[in-house]
Amino acid sequence: MLDDAPERESMDFDVIIVGAGPAGLSAAIRLKQRSTAAGSEINVLVVEKGSEVGAHILSGAILDPVGINKLIPDWKEKGAPIDQPVTGESFKVFGPSGSIPLPVFAMPPMIKDHGNYIVSMGNVCRWLAGEAEALGVEIYPGMAASRLLYRDDGSVRGVVVGEVGIGKDGKKRPDYQPGIELNGKYVLIAEGVRGSLAKIIQEKFALCDDSDPQKFGIGLKEIWEIRPEKARPGYVQYTFGWPLTNDVGGGSFLYHYSDSTIALGFVVHLNYKNPYLYPYAEFQRFKTHPEIAALLEGGKRLAYGSRAITEGGYQSVPKLAFPGGALIGCSAGFVNVPRIKGNHNAMLTGMMAADAAFDAISAGREGDVLKAYEEAYENSSVKRELYAVRNAKPLWSKYGTLLGGIAFSGLDLWTNTIAPGFSIFGTMHHEKSDAASTEPAAKHHPIDYPRPDGVLTFDRLTNVAFSGTNHEEDQPAHLKLKDPSIPVTVNLPLYSEPAQRYCPAGVYEVLYDDGGANPRFQINAQNCVHCKTCDIKDPSQNIVWTTPEGGGGPNYPNM
Ligand SMILES: Cc1cc2nc3c(=O)[nH]c(=O)nc-3n(C[C@H](O)[C@H](O)[C@H](O)COP(=O)(O)OP(=O)(O)OC[C@H]3O[C@@H](n4cnc5c(N)ncnc54)[C@H](O)[C@@H]3O)c2cc1C
Ligand code: SF4
Repeated sequence: MLDDAPERESMDFDVIIVGAGPAGLSAAIRLKQRSTAAGSEINVLVVEKGSEVGAHILSGAILDPVGINKLIPDWKEKGAPIDQPVTGESFKVFGPSGSIPLPVFAMPPMIKDHGNYIVSMGNVCRWLAGEAEALGVEIYPGMAASRLLYRDDGSVRGVVVGEVGIGKDGKKRPDYQPGIELNGKYVLIAEGVRGSLAKIIQEKFALCDDSDPQKFGIGLKEIWEIRPEKARPGYVQYTFGWPLTNDVGGGSFLYHYSDSTIALGFVVHLNYKNPYLYPYAEFQRFKTHPEIAALLEGGKRLAYGSRAITEGGYQSVPKLAFPGGALIGCSAGFVNVPRIKGNHNAMLTGMMAADAAFDAISAGREGDVLKAYEEAYENSSVKRELYAVRNAKPLWSKYGTLLGGIAFSGLDLWTNTIAPGFSIFGTMHHEKSDAASTEPAAKHHPIDYPRPDGVLTFDRLTNVAFSGTNHEEDQPAHLKLKDPSIPVTVNLPLYSEPAQRYCPAGVYEVLYDDGGANPRFQINAQNCVHCKTCDIKDPSQNIVWTTPEGGGGPNYPNM
């Protein structure tokens, strides 16, 4: 790769925001609202690697409106695409052929969805982008922020975007463009889960030294059009159990939109031990459960996608501010896991960081540590919410996600409801990273997954076609191996190379000669849906996800 090239043009802004998700767009809107109220000027730029805002957004999603209420109180009058309130909900434990409903009245109030909305976060982000632009925010879609720029004192001063035209061989193609340096007084990192720049910043500024390792899940999602008579607008269902076993955390979500479409999703916690586990195939198998198969019968799959989700919660929140900027939203990780909700906290933390940056710039500062943002988080509803559910994930990890883990975490959530912040378990910890949780294949047995039928269940590559994924083919693979020999010399003999299975897009393959000898590792980078699972779960931590040329990746219509 070329280093910071002198021929690059540069542009200066007050605040650069990397990522047009709910966190980044809320920060941008808040900055402009503050400057309008103060009668001052602030120029704000948001860069987004998707071909358009929303193209890379994948969420459930049920939106707790607490964030949007604070950001744009008259969002209803303004026509936000948030119009399907939750009308009913159920929680079930699945067995292979039936289910046991859990009594909704016994559920801790904090995890119920009354008052929330079923949305497409992709569409909500598109709408937020329109609001931001109306306030004067500049948004550059199709621009991946591929590297960080630093001031002489080591603080972050900006990012490079738009470097395109480097061929597979690493040399400049005729259409090479060196990209642009975007400089900001502050840079807000809103890349979402496992951000590639966030990862560099966390290491450089030792932001995670005092927190537990971040934990993750992989979320897989399909949108289906179902037969009209089966539609139940506003209805929500969560399941635990089958096809997962007690030692594999996860579960499903099912949200009925206002028309005859549903969001059907499945989350597998990435701390699973068995390297033969195949999260994508678990999702496909889940759809063969009699209750789900009956719902989908006669319907049509419209879209597919996958994205990791942060699950570490309170114990894993890193230091949020660094010299020259801050981590907001899931770049830091504010998902409330038992609720599977992070969008509202992404919005709220975006707003808090925006307030801190606006006050600092108004006071003539730049490039320092936004301590006011960290202080705001310490006193926020975001921290209180994460604190109340801090033991749910560690309890599931310890006792499983079937009845033991659910019972203990339910008890814990109730004690936290009755006596806020109190837990008989104190504060439990996440012991190791998800990569380190993977055990050698010799301790496990391969899992036999049914073949897809092409009607209810699909193979990965067919499904990837329903994510609209596309990458410029002649560019260096954006999935880098620190040591190219590791997949075959370490991961294959020790872990049966789990990348073949954990990748939801079939990017990684182990190929053999005709006689079954000479294994080699192949990376089909053009299929990557940017879920970031490989960067998280590779047991050797040998895969580094970097940004491909902007505009590449999935093109989700309404995920
Ligand atoms: C399967 C699943 C189900 C979920 N369900 C719910 C739910 O029902 N309710 C809920 O509240 N939350 C849910 N969540 C969590 C929620 O989606 C996240 O908390 C939320 O998306 C975080 O917002 P964000 O703005 O931090 O990041 P994101 O929404 O991930 O947005 C980040 C943006 O930054 C862009 N980007 C990243 N890196 C770069 C770069 N280097 N250069 C340029 N652009 C970049 C990305 O393309 C993306 O558009 C779910 C998550 C998953 C995966
Ligand atoms: S290559 Fe990595 S980031 Fe891309 S889809 Fe596969 S697991 Fe996800």
